[in-house]
Amino acid sequence: MKIKTNDKVIVTAGKDKGKKGKVIKVISEKNRVVVEGVNFIKKHIKAKRQGEKGQKITVPVSINISNISLICPKCNKQTKVGYLVLENGEKHRICKKCKQDIAIQVKK
Ligand SMILES: [Zn+2]
Repeated sequence: MKIKTNDKVIVTAGKDKGKKGKVIKVISEKNRVVVEGVNFIKKHIKAKRQGEKGQKITVPVSINISNISLICPKCNKQTKVGYLVLENGEKHRICKKCKQDIAIQVKK
């Protein structure tokens, strides 16, 4: 998957087109992602007991990866992901626009 959790993306198709958000979940086997604040649906939950009120909650719905585009954290532009394989076999994601490494660095 070219998109990873915590990537900043922009929606390029559908009703949420133009919305930006952070990827909170990647479902790689389905090529789908859940983006923070994008494609939420309202769900009505029935009251479980008498006297209780039903609730309305918002649930995020995953969107297809072809409907989003990565926003490069280095140049802040909508971009495509490229790959760079180093001599030691490490695979890095790079921005096709600014050629910078866009791997999420997790410091230990
Ligand atoms: Zn870039």
